[in-house]
Amino acid sequence: MKRHTGQDRSITEHWRPATRAVRGGTARSEWGETSEALFLTSGYSYDKAGDAAARFAGEQAGMTYSRLQNPTVEMLEQRIALLEGAQACRATATGMAAMTAALLCQLSAGDHLVGGRAAFGSCRWLTDTLLPRFGIETTVVDARDPATFAAAIRPHTKVFFFETPANPTMDVVDLAAVCALAKSHGITTVVDNAFATPALQRPMEFGADVVAYSATKMMDGQGRVLAGAICGTTDFIDNTLLPFTRNTGPTLSPFNAWVVLKGLETLDLRIRRQSESAVTVGRFLEARVPRVLHPGLPSHPQHNLAMAQMDATGPIFAFEVADRAQAHGLLDALELIDISNNIGDSRSLMTHPASTTHSGVAAEQRAIMGVGEGLLRLNVGLEDVADLTDDLDRALTAVGL
Ligand SMILES: *Cc1c(COP(=O)(O)O)cnc(C)c1O
Repeated sequence: MKRHTGQDRSITEHWRPATRAVRGGTARSEWGETSEALFLTSGYSYDKAGDAAARFAGEQAGMTYSRLQNPTVEMLEQRIALLEGAQACRATATGMAAMTAALLCQLSAGDHLVGGRAAFGSCRWLTDTLLPRFGIETTVVDARDPATFAAAIRPHTKVFFFETPANPTMDVVDLAAVCALAKSHGITTVVDNAFATPALQRPMEFGADVVAYSATKMMDGQGRVLAGAICGTTDFIDNTLLPFTRNTGPTLSPFNAWVVLKGLETLDLRIRRQSESAVTVGRFLEARVPRVLHPGLPSHPQHNLAMAQMDATGPIFAFEVADRAQAHGLLDALELIDISNNIGDSRSLMTHPASTTHSGVAAEQRAIMGVGEGLLRLNVGLEDVADLTDDLDRALTAVGL
């Protein structure tokens, strides 16, 4: 493979973000293909037995088995690392594989983790159910207030784990404050950056140690494949993460990696347009419903913080109607916007978290998280924004709003 378009970090590090998203990590084969090649292979062959031995000993560069390395997956990893400004990245099969690996690779029985209260349902399951099962203590805090992290620190606290903006209530975490607190206590921060992506927010610029992704969302961006990624220092990736992922196998399929590579080419364009449309739709809804939770709107209590640490606020936000019946009625009256629990798609999608994504979280925990019975979450897509507000207008009227 000819490695000239994306592998030389001394050149690619000077590229601006939109260029990195299109070109970063590209490694062309001897055919000189312009678009990244799709290497559907599980194994690799060697010219000589000695080459195999040298590769297994780590003395010869090259690939040995696609659970460990694959050229298409590696292109994606290098592109995401460049976008993130991270030394290294490893891709995983799903976002949850990324979150699980990012935590389990560094935690052992007796360690303590502090997690954000508002979180993707499965991330809460990791903190509330999985980690305690293995003797890892966890505390869940209101991550909007950095003081809650400080108050939760114990002598054996090893990791802070949170997302910002958080699913689905759009809580914003002060990255600089929480990461500085973690650093001063030798605690590793793991930030789930799925909602913003590196196109809008780069937590490492604020001191985060590890940034993990569901690439299923805005990185693919067209609702096609599941994928995940973990970014960190070369030391963290090589010495802490890789021993875990190489042996447990949450590996990304080369085909899905290729789809996400194509998605990244348009990430910057898509996420900026969807962010703009989401602000327009949020303003429209503010005049019709009791409450809109949108960090891009001045009515959000953390609007200034969101604008300070993000380039734009992304396609996703939430709003509240009276109760479950009105929320379900509104969903049923939509004609364009789909009822779907997915997010980060180029199509507009709406869901009722209390009865779908967060139905696995105990009702009392849901109430504490702010996931009420009248809460709806909207992913604003790439459709003409006037068609979206027309559809919402019709559905709101149908339920008396
Ligand atoms: C979707 C999502 C995940 C899980 O990602 P999958 O790709 O579905 O496994 C984790 N965190 C956040 C914030 C998400 O939105």
